[in-house]
Amino acid sequence: MRLSRAFLPTLKETPADAQIASHRLMLRAGLIRQTSAGIYAWLPAGLRVLRRVEQIVREEQDRAGAQEILMPTIQPAELWKESGRYDDYGKEMLRIRDRHEREMLFGPTNEEMVTELFKSFARSYRDLPRNLYHIQWKFRDEVRPRFGVMRGREFLMKDAYSFDIDQAGAQHSYRQMFLAYLRTFQRMGLTAVPMRADTGPIGGNLSHEFIILAETGESGVFYDATYETTDWAGTDVSTDDVTGLEGFFNGVTASYAATDEMHDTAAWAAVPEDRRREGRGIEVGHIFYFGTKYSAAMGLTLAGPEGTTIVPEMGSYGIGVSRLVGALIEANHDEAGIKWPDAVAPWAAVILNLRPGDVATDAMCEDLYARLGDDAVYDDRSARAGEKFADADLMGFPWQAIIGPRGAAAGKVELKRRATGERVELSLDDAIAKIR
Ligand code: ATP
Ligand code: MG
Ligand code: MG
Ligand code: MG
Repeated sequence: MRLSRAFLPTLKETPADAQIASHRLMLRAGLIRQTSAGIYAWLPAGLRVLRRVEQIVREEQDRAGAQEILMPTIQPAELWKESGRYDDYGKEMLRIRDRHEREMLFGPTNEEMVTELFKSFARSYRDLPRNLYHIQWKFRDEVRPRFGVMRGREFLMKDAYSFDIDQAGAQHSYRQMFLAYLRTFQRMGLTAVPMRADTGPIGGNLSHEFIILAETGESGVFYDATYETTDWAGTDVSTDDVTGLEGFFNGVTASYAATDEMHDTAAWAAVPEDRRREGRGIEVGHIFYFGTKYSAAMGLTLAGPEGTTIVPEMGSYGIGVSRLVGALIEANHDEAGIKWPDAVAPWAAVILNLRPGDVATDAMCEDLYARLGDDAVYDDRSARAGEKFADADLMGFPWQAIIGPRGAAAGKVELKRRATGERVELSLDDAIAKIR
């Protein structure tokens, strides 16, 4: 992408209505644009990050055995009347009428729809276990949409739904997702602490929220410091190993971690004082085991072994894909702008041409750009060097390849690492090797 032709509109001024760093930076770096309260258009750089986050989520869901489907955003109200949640959900649900006066809604989540879908295919216990997920836009008419994509009204969520024969099976499915979540967030370079959580309107009794520690987070949290230092996701336990996974899960959850809603002062007092951490965090994922709440209400019954009937045990597992883009910036930025982790960066590098029009400089930049292809943005604009540096820092490319007449004459690129500020002079080949 050549910056002279790109749609990457950066802002110099700080937007007045943005209260937190990630929101300000998403607007300033040209990642998103608000189109209505809590509703955003994703611009090229933002969309590339969103897609990369989505892809990591997808790969870890697939690796844990979940299968991707795509359910629609618009749902019929009847489904929600069956489960009893049509009235319970209240004003957060966006209700719509079609031209035939049929009641519809923009889905805030998909338990009902997936239960209905599964019911139309599953016949017997041999169709269990299954875990189905999709990555789809949701709508919740939040009372106070704020902090940009962190609390939007329309937002992208990954939601998975497991169906099992019995409680033991459902617990295994729950733990599979638990591990998949730790791996997902770790691949993005985030420390997400699994905390005992309230199940809320989804119902059920076993639930964890995955929380990224950040002062600007909306949840109050209490946790043992071991969560800050242990590489839980580094385990090589397989998600198919029932006993191994149970041991792993019990190990991780043995230390104290709870949101304020679930905080237990007696258990907290038992945590050694020097390991007690209290703060705020951002909920990026939430998993639930809720048993037969939806399967029973919606008549999902299957033939069990030897003439019995079974009502599948279910769980649901959400990740806030679009919220994660904001959370990633909260965790990776400085005064000058974003510092994208390599795993989610929109482009690995920006090539800064310090003297457009200088034959040797242009030639070297073009050469590097041709070789990096879609991994790089080429700042070929006839702007001042200072403006190029500022934009590169703001947009947060992990690498800046800086080329001017002096370097071009010597066959050298100055490579700057955005995260550390470190600079090295390298040949074109060595620079490419580092960037890749
Ligand atoms: P919150 O407590 O922040 O309102 P929630 O508990 O209502 O979130 P869940 O129903 O658990 O959300 O949905 C799963 C995930 O979807 C959440 O963990 C979060 O990452 C994401 N999410 C929920 N609401 C929003 C929103 N308004 N904007 C962006 N992401 C959201
Ligand atoms: Mg909510
Ligand atoms: Mg919540
Ligand atoms: Mg939640």
